[in-house]
Amino acid sequence: MQLIIFGPPGVGKGTLSDMITNKFKIPHVSTGDIFRNEIKGGNSELIQYVEKGLLVPDLVVNKVVEKALKQENFINGFILDGYPRTIDQAEFLENVLWKIKKKIDFVLNLTAPEEAVIGRLTARRNCGKCHAVYNLITMKPKKKDICDKCGNPLIQRKDDEPETVRKRIEVYFQETSPLIDYYKKKKLLVDIDALPRPKGIFNSVVKIIEREIP
Ligand code: AMP
Repeated sequence: MQLIIFGPPGVGKGTLSDMITNKFKIPHVSTGDIFRNEIKGGNSELIQYVEKGLLVPDLVVNKVVEKALKQENFINGFILDGYPRTIDQAEFLENVLWKIKKKIDFVLNLTAPEEAVIGRLTARRNCGKCHAVYNLITMKPKKKDICDKCGNPLIQRKDDEPETVRKRIEVYFQETSPLIDYYKKKKLLVDIDALPRPKGIFNSVVKIIEREIP
């Protein structure tokens, strides 16, 4: 099974991808996580894009994704989270999939009003160590600012600060949202209301996957 999890920043793509990965044992590629790890590892070139909410150039992203998809553990399928984000990336992806004889089964388009995603992003906190995700409104840690899973401090991602959040939403509408029509025309788009709690969204998605993919 090959899925794309699509939607604006803050809509819950990462949480849903993790849940699908756990249930169906299919690896999940998050280009955002790849870039954040590269920055941690010393790649300062990427900071100018990621921390400012701008898109990393297509050439760079496409190379990273092509390398990931050709790994052995992706042979039985994968979930793409945060990629593609431009028409150029979508066309590149088609080409890579053709080379590895795979196709996208469907694109789950998570939808939520703009104010809801802005609220979620600014309330999001991440564990600086194990990367678990919390939300100060809907998924609070048991102890203030401490990760339930590993006991390390929670941090706010630089790009979740209010000014950068606004930029990321603007970039989404300008550069990424045209992909909705792109995948609609290919009859691959499935809209999912992302306002319910993660468990509710996940249950709807499981039903779709089990119905669509034998
Ligand atoms: P995310 O965690 O998916 O919100 O991604 C965080 C940041 O990584 C984005 O704001 C971009 O700077 C960069 N990024 C992630 N995926 C892509 C992509 N497909 N194309 C361009 N930039 C990306």
